[in-house]
Amino acid sequence: MKVYNVLHRKKEEFIPINSNEVKMYVCGMTINGLAHLGHARQAITFDMIYKYLKLKGYNVKYASNYTDVDDKLVLQAKQMGISPVELADERIEKINTTWKNLGVSEPDYRPRVTKTIPQIIEFIENLIKKGFAYETGDGDVYFDVKKFHGYGMLSNRKIDELIDSVRIESADNKRDTLDFALWKHSAGDDFGFSSPWGIGRPGWHIECSTMIKTYLGDQIDIHGGGKDLIFPHHENEIAQSYCANDCDLAKYWLHNGLITINGQKMSKSLGNFMLVDDVLKTYDSEVIRLAILTNHYTSTQDLGDDALALAEKNLYYFYNMLQDISQFEISENMDLVNKFFENMDDDFNSSKVIADLFVTCSNFSKAKNSQNASIIASCLPFIQNVLGIFKQSPSQFIQNIKQKYLKILGINSIEIEQAISCRQNAKLQKNYVLADDIRNKLLDKGIILKDTKTQTTWDIKQLY
Ligand SMILES: [Zn+2]
Repeated sequence: MKVYNVLHRKKEEFIPINSNEVKMYVCGMTINGLAHLGHARQAITFDMIYKYLKLKGYNVKYASNYTDVDDKLVLQAKQMGISPVELADERIEKINTTWKNLGVSEPDYRPRVTKTIPQIIEFIENLIKKGFAYETGDGDVYFDVKKFHGYGMLSNRKIDELIDSVRIESADNKRDTLDFALWKHSAGDDFGFSSPWGIGRPGWHIECSTMIKTYLGDQIDIHGGGKDLIFPHHENEIAQSYCANDCDLAKYWLHNGLITINGQKMSKSLGNFMLVDDVLKTYDSEVIRLAILTNHYTSTQDLGDDALALAEKNLYYFYNMLQDISQFEISENMDLVNKFFENMDDDFNSSKVIADLFVTCSNFSKAKNSQNASIIASCLPFIQNVLGIFKQSPSQFIQNIKQKYLKILGINSIEIEQAISCRQNAKLQKNYVLADDIRNKLLDKGIILKDTKTQTTWDIKQLY
């Protein structure tokens, strides 16, 4: 199996540090809002990777945190008159439900910053003791970047280049531009935790380094996250962890690409933030999964209206094929199964898995026979398990989508059945003008008719 290791900017053979055990950590959400499609892409990507590694027989230990200490969250809680922990609890419950609705499995560990404070303090104390961090005297602690010679290894940049990309905060009392906060004192009566440096809050980067150490150990096999986290977040995690633990933090760094919405970067100012819960009101969760997994996880991907509508159409097509294969006798056929493993072994290429399935379904639709049906049916359990799609009963899924569109089109199935039977009668009476008229009227309403030798069925025009 090969994975693209961002640390070395190339695909590498995947060999876990400790025989069959895989330790994986993915930076989770900061709880200052609910999950949007960008979060969904990351969650679904690493859910797929987690499930595939397990399918390959690895003993996977997967941790993904919730950052439940954050300036915005503290401010929001203050405005609502509740404690930040209370607000975080509420949000996490909602977000967990969102993941469940998206078919994202719970990681083995879900650490939270508020529950890891003693370990974070211990981590910082260790860095100070070893001379890699310093106190400013006003209750802040900074990491001394110049003390770590490997800084910039992940983002492949030199320290001087990095200085330009760091925002200088005037209030900071640090020795060097690149130094980053491990602990910041809380101003006035602001929310914070007691520490040897007074009441304050941990910096974002130290939280991840500590949670990894606490839940998985000093070294892990896979560290994941979105591409936007490479610098400074992951660079800082590497620096802190190496200096504290005297070993590399992670062997493989995997980053999912970012998403755009209708061609634009997703941002609050553009008002194009799409919350997963809102998208789920319009689309089945498998539509979102298919839309995301149709692209390789490292690519930039558009998840706007067109992409979701296309994924729905494709999923509908696949489910129709799955319904059709159930009429055939199925025997084991490893053709597509082998391709599935080949593709997934090549840096989790779900995009190729789906493309191959398309080709197979297209072959089946041209020659509906047992052999072609068997090729699809044999691979189905693997796709269901790892990609989390096709887990519903085909007839139920088809029914649900049809109902959704009938509502939009403002027509119901009884009216359609009646029209079909009128057309049937017209045909029997050789009144082809009336029969065609009925067909055209349905077509105008968005309904297509399909005639076979024995019967006429209907479907939604928009889905073809
Ligand atoms: Zn992190």
